[in-house]
Amino acid sequence: MAKKTVRDLDVAGKRVLVRVDFNVPLNKESGRVSDDTRIRAALPTIDYLIQQKSKVILVSHLGRPKGKVDEKYKMDPVAVRLSELLNRPVQKVDEAVGEVPRSAVEQMQGGDVLLLENVRFYPEEEKNDENFARMLAELAEIYVNDAFGTAHRAHASTEGVAEFLPAVAGFLMEKELDMLGRLLANPESPFAAIIGGAKVSDKIAVLSNLIEKVDILIIGGGMANTFLKSQGYDMGKSLLEVDKLEMARNLMKKAKNRGIQLLLPVDVVAAPGAAPNAEPATVPVDKIPPDFMALDIGPETLGRFAAALKNARTVFWNGPMGVFEMKPFAGGTEAIARELSQVKGITVVGGGDSVAAVKQAGVADQISHISTGGGAALEFLEGRELPGVVALLDK
Ligand code: ADP
Ligand code: MG
Repeated sequence: MAKKTVRDLDVAGKRVLVRVDFNVPLNKESGRVSDDTRIRAALPTIDYLIQQKSKVILVSHLGRPKGKVDEKYKMDPVAVRLSELLNRPVQKVDEAVGEVPRSAVEQMQGGDVLLLENVRFYPEEEKNDENFARMLAELAEIYVNDAFGTAHRAHASTEGVAEFLPAVAGFLMEKELDMLGRLLANPESPFAAIIGGAKVSDKIAVLSNLIEKVDILIIGGGMANTFLKSQGYDMGKSLLEVDKLEMARNLMKKAKNRGIQLLLPVDVVAAPGAAPNAEPATVPVDKIPPDFMALDIGPETLGRFAAALKNARTVFWNGPMGVFEMKPFAGGTEAIARELSQVKGITVVGGGDSVAAVKQAGVADQISHISTGGGAALEFLEGRELPGVVALLDK
């Protein structure tokens, strides 16, 4: 269901509360924002509201302060970085509801930007407390949700507040819903999904849903070990989920029944352990030494995966092909990232580690869409409704 966006309401001169995802990493020594990707992602919505002379009231969480004030998770460094990016002052208040923000809002002129304190300093936020949501809503006349990354949580600032104000999507939210929505609604075929990462158990729901949509399913990374084991291969000391073998067999059966091309590794880069100085060996999957772990896909596998991607018109990727954080096991993941960047069609990457891998490979700007929502993107692709999205006005 398409949702109204900030373009569909008259926001000119109005007080607009924007839920953003400013949950950014901070440098431990300097206390400064060390990666401002998420702040930049919200700029189109903030810039639009500034142009419309709205009074822009921003609210976000940062870290996991667990309902208590925690000095290291105050929003001040975020205000500093946002101010640099906007090239204009950003006022920061030390509270998110009540008299302090209320009087700050009263002082605002059209086009001013105010950042509220970390909303997770209040235990009411994650409890989706109605009264707390009302207090947030009282600061504004319109609510905009641009925090796709937290849309899978029914919290006061993502869901509860939408009860009390006209609620619409920001531009980032709109783009995420559009790009991820295309994967589920009418993907141009051949549609390939590359699923990897550590564990099958994290990805069962997304695999089950995507298996109904894709033409090609490529499985790599740690989770491929469980699939290979379910086919009778001896995986040595590889990361494995013995309680998911039946699940893996069922998914493979389902893929076969639907006529999907399902690809598993045929060779792996293995070592006695996941260590940055390991001396790995490349072996076929039927010759993994008993004391070795499969830690990346091998060259033969890479060739097959790449060939399958050549004709794809839509590709979704979640989950690295190996332990890409360590040089000896990063090759497969980085090569797949480069293959993805060459695909003639829509390419979408989701998941915190997968996004990091695409950046590590230096091809991020050649991907159609890099989702800012890790867990939220996966839940969306599982076919679930996200509470923060449901709460917005329908088009
Ligand atoms: P994302 O964050 O993109 O959703 P995941 O969190 O599911 O991805 O998976 C990423 C993790 O999987 C990485 O830390 C990586 O080291 C690990 N991983 C990938 N392949 C293997 C493997 N063969 N053995 C152990 N861990 C693996
Ligand atoms: Mg991860």
